[in-house]
Amino acid sequence: MEQIESIFGISISGVEGLDGDINYSNRKFRITGSDGVKYILKIFPDAQEWMLAEEESIILDKIGHELSFQVPQNIRLSDGSMFFDFEKDKAKLLSFIEGEFMAKVRHSPKLLISLGEKIAELDLSLRSIDSPVFASRHLFWDIQNAHLSLPKIPLIKESGQRKLVQYYLDRFTENVLPIQHNLRHSIIHGDLNDYNILVENDEIKGFLDFGDATYSPLVNDLAVALTYIMLNKTDPWEVVLPMIRGYQKHIKLTKEELELLPDLITSRLCISLCNSAEKKHLGQDNEYVLISEKPAWTLLELWSRTNPIKIKNCFHEAAGFPLVARTPKKHQVDVRAKVSGKSLGLSYADPIYMTSALFQYMFDEVGNSYLDCYNNIPHVGHSHPVVSKVISKQVRELNTNTRYLTDSFNTCSEKLLSQFPEQLSKIYYLNSGSEACDLAIRIARTVTNRKTVVVLENGYHGNTSTGIEISSYKFDGKGGRGIGPHILKLPLPNLFNGKFKTAKEFAYHAMDAIEQLPEKPCAFIAEPISGCGGQVPLAGGYLSYLFDYFSVNGILTISDEVQTGFGRLGKWFWGFQMHDIVPDMVVLGKPMGNGQPISALVTSKKISDDFTNGMEFFSSFGGNPVSCEVVKSVLEIIESEDLQGNARVVGDYFKSQLQELKDSFPCMADVRGEGLFLGIEFLDKARKPDKSIANHVKNKLKDEFILVGTDGPFDNVIKIKPPMCFTKQNVDLFASTLDRILRSTDAL
Ligand code: PMP
Repeated sequence: MEQIESIFGISISGVEGLDGDINYSNRKFRITGSDGVKYILKIFPDAQEWMLAEEESIILDKIGHELSFQVPQNIRLSDGSMFFDFEKDKAKLLSFIEGEFMAKVRHSPKLLISLGEKIAELDLSLRSIDSPVFASRHLFWDIQNAHLSLPKIPLIKESGQRKLVQYYLDRFTENVLPIQHNLRHSIIHGDLNDYNILVENDEIKGFLDFGDATYSPLVNDLAVALTYIMLNKTDPWEVVLPMIRGYQKHIKLTKEELELLPDLITSRLCISLCNSAEKKHLGQDNEYVLISEKPAWTLLELWSRTNPIKIKNCFHEAAGFPLVARTPKKHQVDVRAKVSGKSLGLSYADPIYMTSALFQYMFDEVGNSYLDCYNNIPHVGHSHPVVSKVISKQVRELNTNTRYLTDSFNTCSEKLLSQFPEQLSKIYYLNSGSEACDLAIRIARTVTNRKTVVVLENGYHGNTSTGIEISSYKFDGKGGRGIGPHILKLPLPNLFNGKFKTAKEFAYHAMDAIEQLPEKPCAFIAEPISGCGGQVPLAGGYLSYLFDYFSVNGILTISDEVQTGFGRLGKWFWGFQMHDIVPDMVVLGKPMGNGQPISALVTSKKISDDFTNGMEFFSSFGGNPVSCEVVKSVLEIIESEDLQGNARVVGDYFKSQLQELKDSFPCMADVRGEGLFLGIEFLDKARKPDKSIANHVKNKLKDEFILVGTDGPFDNVIKIKPPMCFTKQNVDLFASTLDRILRSTDAL
C-alpha cells in the first residue's frame, strides 16, 4: 500500500478487501485515505483481464461526464496513465461511489421509475461508444448468448428444475435467437444486476462494474435490470410498469423489443441458474456465486404458473401498447355451436376458452391460470419441452406407416414391452383407447371363436360401435339403447356402496352369471380402478378369484389401462399389478403419447399367433415414428423425473389431506383411489348420492381456478387425475380451497 501512497500521493488510513464480493472475478479493495476519500483498487491477475480493464477505462472516460448519475472515475497517475505494477500484477484505482446496493434497499415506485430512466440515459451515452474489443466478446452472461447455457442444463440436479430451464431456453432458441439480430444493437453495460446499482435517498446514485460491457441488443440492459429487480417480490410484475415507464422517458421501446422482453428476462434467469449449477458441479460455489439462485428459481417457477397473456399485457400496459385481445369467448361459443354437433359437450356451463398450458397449469384467454387436477392425457405435463422437441425433430425426419422397418417402432416396442411381465411380449399400435379396446374384442372373438363379452357396470371402453357395445356407461346412460346381445354385465365390485359386501361375493356372483350363459364368453374387460364408475378400485381379491376360473374356461382377460397405466397409481406401473394378476391383453392409451394420438394393445405370443388368421392388421397412423418417439420420451421422462415415485408420494399426501377433510365434512362420504388417481364421493344427509353438491364443488373450484371433473353413475364423484408432476403445494392449495368451499356451502 505504501506503493500506492507514493504513486498517488495519498496517505491511506484503511484497506478493506472486497474479494468474494458479487463481482468475484477481480481482486478488489476499498481504500480510504486519511482525508476520508475512498477509492477502489482493482488488481488484474492476467493480461486478458488487464486488456479488458483498459477498454473499460476508455468507456468510463468517455461517458463519465454528461450523466445525471455517477459511474466510477479512473484515477490517473501524474503522467496521465491509469495502470501501475502492483506486486506481480497490474492494478488501477477508481473513484468510490457512496450509496447502498439496489439489492439492499426497498424498491419504491419512485426509485423504480428513476432506475428505468437512468438505464435509458446510460444506454444512450453508451450508444456513442465504439469498442471492437467488447464487441468481439462472446460472453455466456450476455442474454443474446443464452443458448450457450444449454449444455449446462444436465448439471441441474432436480429434474423438475431441469425441465423448467429447458423449457425457457427452448423459448429463447425459438423466439429470440432467430430475430435478435434485427433489434437495435449497441455497447451496453451488460450486467445491471442489483449489486451493480447504487442508491441514495431513494434515487439512483450510480452504476458500477462495466467489465461485462458488450455489443448486444440495446434492450438487454433493461432486461437484465428487470430480472434482478423482479427477484424476491411477492408480485414481481408490479415493477415492470414503473421501470418501463422510466426507461421510455428517454428510449421508446420498439414493438419487437417489448414483445421479446419476457423471454429475455426468463433467459437471463436461466443463464444465472445454469451458471449456479455449473459452479456447484465444479465445487466453485460460494455464498456470492449463489446469491440469486433461490429467488431465481422462485421467480422462474412463478413465471411458469402465470398466464402468458397476463405477462404480455403487463408489459404492453407498461409501454403503452394495446393489450392482447383474443377472439371474444362469446364468438368462440357461437362458432362452436355452428360447426359442431350438440352431442359434443363442453365442460362447465360457462366453458373455459383455453389458450395455452404448461406442466400442471392451464391458461385462458383473459389471463387466468388454472391448476389442472383433471387432465391425465398430458401425463408428464402440458407442453413438456422434451416431448415437444421429440415431435418436431421426428416430424422433420420421417413419419411413415408401419409397413416399413423403422428404428422408432422397434426401439419403442422393446422399451414399452420391457415394462410388462415376460409373457406379454407382443404389441399392436393404434391411435386411441377406443380403437385399442375395439381391437382387443376383435382379437378375443377371433381367437376364441365366441362372441359374448363380460363387462362391468358403468365401465367405459371407447366410442367405436364395439366400444359402445361393451360400455355400460354408454349403453345404460343417456341415449343408450340398453345392453345388447352377447354382452354380460356384472355389478361393479365396489366395496363402498356396491351390491355385495365382499370381493368373494362379487366373484361368486360373476361366476354364477357366466355359468348361466348359453355359451362361454370370449373375454372379460375391466379397468383396475373404474374411472367412469366413479374412481372405484375393484374390490381387492375380486380379479384373482376370477382369473383362475377365466383361465380354465378359456375366457380372455383384458385390462383397460387407458387411465390407470404408466405409473399413475404410484405403487404400480400398471393397474393390474395392484390386483396381483396378469391379464391376457392390456389396453393402453391417453398418457402414452402425452397428447400425441397413440394407443396400443399388448398381449402374449400365443394370442398374437392365434389372431394371425390371414386377415391383416393395419392402422395408417398407429405406430408411426413420431408417435413411437413420443412414447419413448414419455417413458424416459417418467423415469428421469421419477413421476411414478411422485405419484406415490404426492398421491398419498393428497389422499391423506382429503381424508382429513372428510372427517370435518360428512358430505364427503368416501375418499378413494391410488396415487394420482383419486375420487371423492358425495352423499347427502340421507346417505343418498348427492350430485348437486359434487357439481357445486366442481364449479366453485373452477371459480377458484382449479379444474376437476365429476363422474360415476350418479355424477356425484369428484375425479382427480392431474399431470404427474403435481406437487404437495398444489395439493395444499386444492385442500384449502375445498375446505373453504365446503365451509361456505349452505347445503351442509
Ligand atoms: N377406456 C377407458 C378406460 C377410457 O377412459 C377411455 C377414454 N376416456 C377409453 C377407453 C377410450 O379412449 P379414447 O378416448 O382415446 O378413444
